[in-house]
Amino acid sequence: SKDAGGGKFTSYEPQLHVAAEERRLLEQALRKALSNDELHLNYQPVVNADTGHLTGFEALVRWTHPELGVISPAKFIPLAEDARLIAPIGEWVLRTACAEAAGWPGETRVAVNVSPEQLHNPGFVSIVASALANSGLPAHRLELEVTESVFMRDDTGAVKVLERILGLGVRLSLDDFGTGYSSLGYLSRTRFSTIKIDRSFVIGAAKGVAEPIAIIRAVVVLAQSLGMTTTAEGVETADQHRMVQDLGCTKVQGYYFSRPLPVAEARALAHREGRE
Ligand code: C2E
Ligand code: CA
Ligand code: CA
Ligand code: CA
Repeated sequence: SKDAGGGKFTSYEPQLHVAAEERRLLEQALRKALSNDELHLNYQPVVNADTGHLTGFEALVRWTHPELGVISPAKFIPLAEDARLIAPIGEWVLRTACAEAAGWPGETRVAVNVSPEQLHNPGFVSIVASALANSGLPAHRLELEVTESVFMRDDTGAVKVLERILGLGVRLSLDDFGTGYSSLGYLSRTRFSTIKIDRSFVIGAAKGVAEPIAIIRAVVVLAQSLGMTTTAEGVETADQHRMVQDLGCTKVQGYYFSRPLPVAEARALAHREGRE
């Protein structure tokens, strides 16, 4: 409400102050999270849409703050990006995921999320190379997930880094497809293996809404014609699974199949599946 005297929106100030203070404290805590060993990875299974067979896992970072408990990456990753902490955190995630996945059987893949900021650093290529070399994980079993926002600014720099990463034999997938920048030009310039269809389309499609159904159908055709596969994200129900399977998605991921798992459970699942 408006302050009677000065015309300032005084009632908003305490809230803004708290938000800024909370941010500052979280940022400080995040700076110590790595050295204090407060980060770990969970792994969500990705399965073949038709057979249900495990194809790999997506690594998802978790932060357990000593007092605040588990803080969602949806909250602390953007904070890390702003505070220039994403490079060390992203490097830790990459090295840990490669090391943990190296012992999984057969062709079990691991997907790692990469922030745009990481791709604008040319040194990132040697970090990827050294994560592979140190862990012994074969390059083709590593997949890096990037979002469309990578192509929004300085896109030549990022495209060059992506090309050098492809040169290592690592796969790329395009994450959260359809939620961001809507130009398809980069799809023909960068060799993605997989397009990940955002959960919002999956939800709409299963409700029978025409537009998300048309979009998924079009993305599947586009991906096929470019030699890419599609993964439907955030599948929570049998209906959603049936719908994206009917629409031709190659792979599926979501709570209907499994929540993200602690590393020991992911490893056990990979070995169980590997024996089948
Ligand atoms: P994302 O890459 O789109 O990851 C999928 C998110 O959806 C994960 O949330 C996952 O737990 C959640 N999810 C999976 N299946 C379902 C489902 O059936 N229903 C619903 N409602 N959600 C589902 P999470 O783990 O909280 O991660 C959120 C976001 O944080 C990720 O979205 C990604 O953008 C970012 N993130 C997570 N780990 C990392 C990381 O290591 N590096 C970077 N740069 N970003 C990360
Ligand atoms: Ca992802
Ligand atoms: Ca996603
Ligand atoms: Ca998402």
